[in-house]
Amino acid sequence: MDPTSDINLNNNISIKVPTELEPLLKCIKNYLPNESLDEVVKAFLFASRAHSKMKRLSGEPYIQHCLSVALILAELEVDIPTICAALLHDVVEDTGMTHEELERKFGSEVSILVEGVTKIGKQQFDTREEREVENMRKIILAMAQDIRVIIIKLADRLHNMRTLQYHSPEKQKRIATDTLDIYAPIAHRLGIGRIKWELEDLCLRFLKPDVYSQIHQMVAKKRREREEYIVQVIKVLSEKLAESKIKSRIEGRPKHFYSIYQKMLNQNRDIDEIYDLTAIRIITDSKRNCYEALGVVHTLYKPILGRFKDYIAMPKSNMYQSLHTTVWGVNNEPLEIQIRTDEMHLIAEEGIAAHWLYKEGIHLSKEQYDKRFGWLRQLIESQEETNDPKEFMRNLKIELFSDEVFVFTPKGSVKELPVGATPVDFAFAVHSEVGLRCTGAKVNGKLVPLRTALNTGDIVEIITNKSAKPSRDWLSYIKTSRARNKITHFLKQEEATELIKTGREEVARELKQIHIGIQEVSKPDGLVKIAIDLGFPGADELFIAVASGKVSAKNIVNRLFPSKDKIIKNENLLTSSTAPISHSQEGVIIQGVSDALVRFGRCCHPVPGDPIGGFITRGRGISIHKIGCQSIKPFLQDKSRIIKVTWDNTQEKYPVPIRIIAHDRPGLLRDVLDLIASFDINVYYAKAEQANKKANIHITIDIINNKQLDDLIKNLGNITGVIETVRINK
Ligand code: MN
Repeated sequence: MDPTSDINLNNNISIKVPTELEPLLKCIKNYLPNESLDEVVKAFLFASRAHSKMKRLSGEPYIQHCLSVALILAELEVDIPTICAALLHDVVEDTGMTHEELERKFGSEVSILVEGVTKIGKQQFDTREEREVENMRKIILAMAQDIRVIIIKLADRLHNMRTLQYHSPEKQKRIATDTLDIYAPIAHRLGIGRIKWELEDLCLRFLKPDVYSQIHQMVAKKRREREEYIVQVIKVLSEKLAESKIKSRIEGRPKHFYSIYQKMLNQNRDIDEIYDLTAIRIITDSKRNCYEALGVVHTLYKPILGRFKDYIAMPKSNMYQSLHTTVWGVNNEPLEIQIRTDEMHLIAEEGIAAHWLYKEGIHLSKEQYDKRFGWLRQLIESQEETNDPKEFMRNLKIELFSDEVFVFTPKGSVKELPVGATPVDFAFAVHSEVGLRCTGAKVNGKLVPLRTALNTGDIVEIITNKSAKPSRDWLSYIKTSRARNKITHFLKQEEATELIKTGREEVARELKQIHIGIQEVSKPDGLVKIAIDLGFPGADELFIAVASGKVSAKNIVNRLFPSKDKIIKNENLLTSSTAPISHSQEGVIIQGVSDALVRFGRCCHPVPGDPIGGFITRGRGISIHKIGCQSIKPFLQDKSRIIKVTWDNTQEKYPVPIRIIAHDRPGLLRDVLDLIASFDINVYYAKAEQANKKANIHITIDIINNKQLDDLIKNLGNITGVIETVRINK
């Protein structure tokens, strides 16, 4: 049995009090002077017996943890059952005590609270997300039952965070992460600033130890300097406030490390670039005096524009009220000042705990309570519809973290959206198909423009049409990244479809000049092969490149029908039969024709040296075939359509191997091949290797003469990255 004493606590206790319980009892007596503390002593004795064989990792008796949790709560001035439940919060989980037993000994109120805390539990999950979701669900359900459960849990977590150094570094990180993800936001949401800040600072200490110690050192270093500064400001301010007959007290408050850290992150600054490590708080007696005090502050120091916030007229959703302003203080350094009443101060520190129903003075009516914590109820209700814990988590997280609106589908399921979100955001939140086919929206039964900002509680109905599609100007007002991604993806796709169509048409037009239909080359060895040779994944991408001017359609056609097979267009077909013999670029001489449009028969593939003849087609130029080609036999009756053709030996081409050495980069080979194609030179063979970040490209090309080769080599040297181009002499 624990050592006991019989200190007289003003007759609040009729049984002997163990010494270690005294601080707790004294603290409770301060705010509940007339209540019996017998139950607290009973709970303590019961818990210390139950945990008597257990020690904390720190080596302390386990009951010390229970006492510390109860003391944190007593500082929030909670009621007696909450204190008892805090003392008993681990007995069911750790000692195998049953709820029935607890209920028999301490009544149902205490046992329900303990049960709630136990349910939130400590079980392990495989992934962080799972753990988070499950914990959060339990917390929310417990909160819905009795908000005191979550306040006990917060105090429990706070003490565990205060003693986290006894855990392994891994566990420290895990627990701190959980705390930052779940518990600190809950504390914030419930307005319990005191717990929120301490949790966040502790999380920073374990998650970013180097940053934490950096801030710690800087704050310590500047302490004296800051203190002098603050004393000076307080002196000036209190004189002026007194002159204006404003009753007030002024505090210099060191900023929380976590908020300094956030400032460093947000402003991308180093700790030594953050000047305002301290802020000033003016606490006065009435709302009216808050505004009066603000006037005094702004007369004394020049306010920084855009930094004034009136949370008195517009309280935060967690009930927080204050005036915030930042002024150019002494030495022209920015100085943050908060102005609030005593009551507002209490709420800022204790949040919902300050609204203790048992507490005198401040009372929340049912409507007020609903207004403040209605989100919680809505969440619970929505939870009944969705069985997806992740969905639930998303809903909750948004609610806890930031300024979001909460809107409903006509069937009552909830969608969370950022403030300013529109029906378009909502439509995409429901389903991407709904978003993509959205044409209009009804909010609370009324038709509204799609750019209308939604409010919490709105019931939104989206009107869709199967043939509708997203409009580009939606991008100017939507707020969610989900909608943005889906819309831009759609628009890009639509644009791509358009480009493919255009590119395909261009290539088809170019092919038409040589009387070939695009379907003839839409085989794997046709356009697809060219696309891959040029470094595109497929024909569609090649068409896009054509449409956007990166590759010319002519280049593609030249690649499809290179060398001897190539046909050049010419509008002036078959001029006169007496015209001088001319050389065509295709390496054939056509009697009496200058620059005719010619094509080589795909049936017989004539090559230089073959005996050939020309056949004048109707509107498709001259078709050249081997003498004796079967496919033109039926047309040979019409002698007027036969024309004499010979090979032009003056333009013989020679295969020349060259080697290009270049700094490797994406698209290098393509640029080289494009350049060669622009010279109308055929490539027989191309191979690129990479070694030591350098590309070694071997290419064999068809060359007419030395001048052409020199020109080409000179131009290849202009391609970015090319170091050297040499002709390989075999
Ligand atoms: Mn505990």
